[in-house]
Amino acid sequence: MPLTVYFAAGARLWPVYGEHLRAALAAEGVEAEILTDTPTDPAAVDYIVFAPGGDIADFRPYTRVKAVLNLWAGVERIVGNATLTQPLCRMVDAGMTEGMVEYVTANVLRHHLGLDRYLLGQDGWNPAEEVPPLARERPVTVLGFGELGQACGRALAALNFPVTGWSRTPRATPGLTCLHGPEGLEAALRRAQILVLLLPLTAETANLLNAERLAWLPRGAAIVNPGRGPLIDDAALLAALDAGHVGHATLDVFRTEPLPEGHPFWAHPRVTVTPHIAAGTRPITAARVVAENIRRGETGQPFLHLVDRARGY
Ligand code: NDP
Repeated sequence: MPLTVYFAAGARLWPVYGEHLRAALAAEGVEAEILTDTPTDPAAVDYIVFAPGGDIADFRPYTRVKAVLNLWAGVERIVGNATLTQPLCRMVDAGMTEGMVEYVTANVLRHHLGLDRYLLGQDGWNPAEEVPPLARERPVTVLGFGELGQACGRALAALNFPVTGWSRTPRATPGLTCLHGPEGLEAALRRAQILVLLLPLTAETANLLNAERLAWLPRGAAIVNPGRGPLIDDAALLAALDAGHVGHATLDVFRTEPLPEGHPFWAHPRVTVTPHIAAGTRPITAARVVAENIRRGETGQPFLHLVDRARGY
């Protein structure tokens, strides 16, 4: 008897994922009927593939569902849904990780090399007065040292940046400095000439970068935030930018997306806005993760990338 998988990730995504999901399920030896419309009998669904903005608000009728498989890494828009009692798995996708490493490395190198001077100032032969520091002299801190943060940290360390990672619980990554918990945050920020945010949005991480903590950064530090918008207090960031305490902020994620027209970030000379493009889920690799988790569920193996509801990520 084939399984019933409900693709509740929005009509827009089905054309992108459909073919890859079918191929990945077949490769895992899983026989499944895939529904793309609201099921007439929710109690007959075995697995839900989900993305925020998708088609389910109330998970209670899905009484047989063994897992909800999120297509996104961030789960802040589903984890608090009280009707969802089934296991929730987030996306850890090799393609997305590679994409994030590229986005973060590019932006760290941009700030490290001071490339804006040349990219934006094509009005003459104006070399910098001083030879800029090497990467080995430019400490970078990554807040959030999980799947994405560690991959970015390793790539930056391979370019010789001294990397500090900060997490909730102790982590050990050879060659990198690992700090954790509230007691490690000040030291992580005080050394961060370039700060990368790759934290999930939870009750504990919202507004983590407030005025007091922004002041812990060295003067002129650059911030790269592909994590989530509410990790930073916007007003405090704008004040720190205006005061020149923060040299530049490259922001990919915002409290309201799309970033509203007229928002001060758009026109600020020290802010670069990218439209939540740091690292999209890659359908080919992500479909394999979904299919593997379904196969695991059917063969009694633990699901990969289970979300801890109490932690919120
Ligand atoms: P992980 O769950 O693998 O890593 C999260 C990290 O954050 C862990 O190191 C965790 O600590 C740490 N953390 C969580 N809460 C706290 C806290 N209170 N104090 C200190 N550290 C904390 O997530 P991923 O690396 O896969 O993804 C991170 C985030 O990146 C996603 O949640 C999403 O918001 C964002 N993202 C953005 C994308 C974009 O295109 N802009 C694309 C993909 C993801 P510990 O190690 O102890 O658990």
